[in-house]
Amino acid sequence: MKGKLYIVATPIGNLDDITLRAIKILKEVDIIAAEDTRHTLGLLNHLEITKPLISYYKQTEAEKADSLLDKINEGKNIAIVSDAGTPGISDPGEVIIKKTIDRGIDVVPIPGACAAINAVIASGLSTDEFCFIGFLPVNAGERKKKLVDNKYETKTLIFYEAPHKLIKTLEAIKDVLGDRRAVLCKELTKIHETFKRGILSDLIDNIEEPKGEYVIVVEGANKNKNDIEIEERSKMTLEEHYKYFEEKGMDKKEIIKQIAKERKVNKNEIYKYFIK
Ligand code: SAM
Repeated sequence: MKGKLYIVATPIGNLDDITLRAIKILKEVDIIAAEDTRHTLGLLNHLEITKPLISYYKQTEAEKADSLLDKINEGKNIAIVSDAGTPGISDPGEVIIKKTIDRGIDVVPIPGACAAINAVIASGLSTDEFCFIGFLPVNAGERKKKLVDNKYETKTLIFYEAPHKLIKTLEAIKDVLGDRRAVLCKELTKIHETFKRGILSDLIDNIEEPKGEYVIVVEGANKNKNDIEIEERSKMTLEEHYKYFEEKGMDKKEIIKQIAKERKVNKNEIYKYFIK
């Protein structure tokens, strides 16, 4: 009989944040595949669990996945864990999970800590709908594009960031998304857990030297794409506004009517301006 692949969430700081079921599974499986075996050994020692560990990280994920799945086919049960939190969430996991499903092997999630979820629930921002972005690309152009793509997203946005890049990332978010409400969630579940709430510019101005781990939670766009675009066009000169619609192939009468509507003025005023 084939074994199973268990995706086991581990603590994100406080070692008590591991479920009874996770401990049971870690005790029962034949092998634990860990992102960093030394790191996981610390957790296993704390839990008094002794198990064969196989190293398994992003760069070796594809190649290691096949040999792990061969073992599952032979009947072994394997748990994958990352250094902290939920595997597959800005951590290795996705590749082996896809391959496991392709091979018709059962994937069993063992829930637990995840920094993004704990940050958003404590943020005080809307939890109705949220969008996990994780780490922004390092390349400046790609980072900007990712932010522009999410500029009109009305869902709460969740970012991960390393401390040495925190200020730059907050600035990049503010530059593209605007000076929105945001929450800096630092060192979740640890002794120095803090939540700084405010608008992005205040958070940037008041940040002490960033140390530790951070999740940035940002309020979603409060207007839809259409309203934001109208607001941006209303800041153009009348000539630019006119040209914008002219390039869209609209005729003069339509353009004047649309400009008046967007700027909330009488269309005769716009008409007179252009006659002059
Ligand atoms: N798989 C993990 C999870 O489930 O949250 C995320 C791993 S990712 C490589 C590491 C990033 O998650 C950190 O740079 C930080 O942004 C965030 N993070 C992890 N633990 C955290 C904590 N205790 N407090 C705040 N952020 C944390």
